[in-house]
Amino acid sequence: MGEIMEKAVRKKKDICSYTYEELAEEMQAAGEKTFRAKQIYQWLHVKLADSFEEMTNLSKSLREKLDEEYQIAPVELVERQISKADPTEKFLFELEDGNMVESVLMKYDYGNSVCISSQAGCRMGCRFCASTIGGLIRNLKTSEMLRQIYRIQKITGERVSNIVVMGTGEPLDNYDNFVRFIRMVSAPEGLNISQRNITASTCGIVPGILRLAEEGFQITLALSLHAGTQEKRKSLMPVANKYELSEVLAACDTYFEKTGRRITFEYSLVKDVNDTDEDAADLIRIAGHRNCHINLIPVNPVRERSYVRPSRQNALKFQNKLEKNGINVTIRRERGSDIDGACGQLRRRYAAAGKEKADEILRAD
Ligand code: SAH
Repeated sequence: MGEIMEKAVRKKKDICSYTYEELAEEMQAAGEKTFRAKQIYQWLHVKLADSFEEMTNLSKSLREKLDEEYQIAPVELVERQISKADPTEKFLFELEDGNMVESVLMKYDYGNSVCISSQAGCRMGCRFCASTIGGLIRNLKTSEMLRQIYRIQKITGERVSNIVVMGTGEPLDNYDNFVRFIRMVSAPEGLNISQRNITASTCGIVPGILRLAEEGFQITLALSLHAGTQEKRKSLMPVANKYELSEVLAACDTYFEKTGRRITFEYSLVKDVNDTDEDAADLIRIAGHRNCHINLIPVNPVRERSYVRPSRQNALKFQNKLEKNGINVTIRRERGSDIDGACGQLRRRYAAAGKEKADEILRAD
């Protein structure tokens, strides 16, 4: 009886977060042949199975054994919004414990790009961001990051070729699971997505950037800069209280030196806050002598916040000033404006109101 009870409460192991090598060891320890690990890994990460039941080239007894010991982390579709404006879709997924995360699919000529979340909620507190309003709930497991992509690939039937880690959460605040995610999603035994097609965005956690520079990755690092001075950055991003702008930039330089990957600076343009001539001059001082790319993002209005985006004309003017100084700069093309709101908005509606109510709000919009 005691044993049964223990079995019932024992937490199943998160099999989708195991690298191929770890799974092979695990199977070996269980007395299974090593090729079984290969088969199981393929089911999980190539054929994108949602249950052990599906793994038909394994014996029934092995499938049952796996089901007793392990769990395939649930990432269940709650809502899919398809944009009428452009080839963009937004997905709301529910995790095992009822938490919700958002992912976005953007289709381009060069392939399909998926933006994933790395945490449920976020504790970074950036003033203009919807994802941080309810604080951090928990880190996502590696399996939960991977399976956002797997789900989208299964739902659409189309291959994902590019990944951006720019959804809810701060990837460097969930460092180990995030790095494991990068390893696994780019591994030849799994989806095998080229690291050069992966971008991760950080608000500027210096020790995390320096550690990432040593991982031997070829991913692009995007730094959320948003201001050209320490003072202004502090007023927009609380994380700047902990890490000075000069330190953050030095860490980005190290990342570039170690990886050879040019840094992307993200700069959310907010009317009258960071879009003046003086702001452009500050930005030029930072970017003018660096091998980098600047991505201007006209701020997405967030219901709970009062930030406003500059006019198209002013955004272009700002871009022009940077360009004249030889800086490589683009304005992020707006995607899915009819479904998007700001990042994290869809999840927030659910979190705040519960599912029925959220449906009502969506219908009313
Ligand atoms: N935590 C990471 C990644 C998540 S946010 C980071 O801070 O970089 C991805 C990007 O969107 C960041 O540059 C973030 O500052 C920006 N962002 C968040 N809310 C925004 C909004 N309402 N309008 C425009 N950009 C926003």
